[in-house]
Amino acid sequence: MMSQRNRPRAPSGPIDSAGPSRVSGSLPGPAVKRYFVHTFGCQMNVNDSRRMGEALATIGYRPAPTAEQADLIILNTCAIREKAEDKMLSALGRYRAVKTQRGALLAVAGCVAQQEKAKLLARVPYLDLVFGPDAIGKLPELVNRVSVERVRVAETAWIDSEEYVFPRADPGSSVGKVSEFVTVMKGCDNVCSFCVVPHTRGREMSRPFVEVLEEVAALTTVGVREVTLIGQNVNSYRGGISFAELLLRVAQVPGIERVRFTTSHPHDLSGALIDAFRREPRIAPHFHLPVQSGSDAVLRRMKRDYTVAAYLERLAALRGARPGIAVTTDIIVGFPGETEEDFRATLALTEQVRYDNQFSFVFSPRPHTVAGLKEEEWGPVPHEVKVERLERLQVIQRRISGEIAEGLVGHEVEVLVEGPSRTDPSRRFGRSPENRTVNFEGSAPAGARVRVHVTHASPSALLGDEAGIIDLPAIRPLRPRTEAA
Ligand code: SAM
Ligand code: SF4
Repeated sequence: MMSQRNRPRAPSGPIDSAGPSRVSGSLPGPAVKRYFVHTFGCQMNVNDSRRMGEALATIGYRPAPTAEQADLIILNTCAIREKAEDKMLSALGRYRAVKTQRGALLAVAGCVAQQEKAKLLARVPYLDLVFGPDAIGKLPELVNRVSVERVRVAETAWIDSEEYVFPRADPGSSVGKVSEFVTVMKGCDNVCSFCVVPHTRGREMSRPFVEVLEEVAALTTVGVREVTLIGQNVNSYRGGISFAELLLRVAQVPGIERVRFTTSHPHDLSGALIDAFRREPRIAPHFHLPVQSGSDAVLRRMKRDYTVAAYLERLAALRGARPGIAVTTDIIVGFPGETEEDFRATLALTEQVRYDNQFSFVFSPRPHTVAGLKEEEWGPVPHEVKVERLERLQVIQRRISGEIAEGLVGHEVEVLVEGPSRTDPSRRFGRSPENRTVNFEGSAPAGARVRVHVTHASPSALLGDEAGIIDLPAIRPLRPRTEAA
């Protein structure tokens, strides 16, 4: 249910409307209306899609199992790399058939919507609605406008900081889940030269800490024991207390066993945050710290604001505060002007840090970004060189991830059980404190913490046998309605 504070409200800026051209689809019928959200991109988008579902529930919409059964199809898009945009455009083409067959309304949300605004309506004549990340709370009003007034609408105005209210998660939609995401920030004030996020997500805004604590407490009432606090750069959180303090307070919420967060910019990794890892065992021993490159020259052009030496120094302090902490990172290869020597520095850093895992990408020039505009001047890296470098990096990282995982065979790991394994439902699935995927033979219920004896390892998952229960959840997780039926 939507709280009073989250009711649709007027935007602070003018509505960026492409109306009043006619909507090409017919009105949803009087029967229960159904929506389908196709989500692209990061966890922030996954969370936004959930909030869209909750907003639509207030006007009687229910989720549809497939797009073909929906009266409203929303593509929640990602603009971080060109490939993500291409995927969105091809999906849009597929959903056009559903629109033609059953008159479904078609909407584009998220970063591409924010980037393209009303231009998207002109480009895609069968599209009914375009709305940006700040308009999620207004979705019921926008859908009503499109279906009742029969206009095509683009709503991409930012809501300024005094007006903006973070959509509050409905704990009812977390029934059956043990681990959940909680939004603590939106937007980003950094100026990394490759990144489109500041243009698509706007200025950084922190959610008041009281709201975060209330949402976490509400989630525990349905059995959630682990939360991941999310934002583009959580280390610069300013919601009334520091991010380190926020983590410490969330860890104290009764029922919470583990607190995680993502994502962090290395230049904001404070001593207080490192100290929080030393003090509070419920802060899970995993840190995703995107380095992007192992070359100072490349980092300078990326406008990342740290050197490799400073990054390593922070990392050493972190590992000193919490020995055994898992560290993961993001890397971009083929950034404009990246030489073979620069790239080798990234390989050397990978070997030196021995990351538990890396998410690596080839550079993709993005609109409005400095690196996108200066690619020619700085020296574009040919596509085949980018791909070859990516493969070389990934071979090394796979070996390191495999070696780290192999080292756990024969040992016991703690696992918070989330349910049946996705790959083999006869097994159980959960995660270790270091965020490793663990599938195991056993019968522990979702929400239990167990010891698992590791028998096999691959770079991406551990396999083992349940060796004993550490504890059961104080609050018995409610099962989702479909499972209970
Ligand atoms: N806020 C995070 C940080 O400061 O590192 C990054 C968030 S971004 C959504 C996720 C990752 O996408 C980045 O860390 C970067 O590696 C990658 N990325 C962003 N822009 C990119 C681009 N233009 N080309 C390739 N990869 C990109
Ligand atoms: Fe993008 Fe992250 Fe840099 Fe912000 S800090 S501009 S989200 S890469």
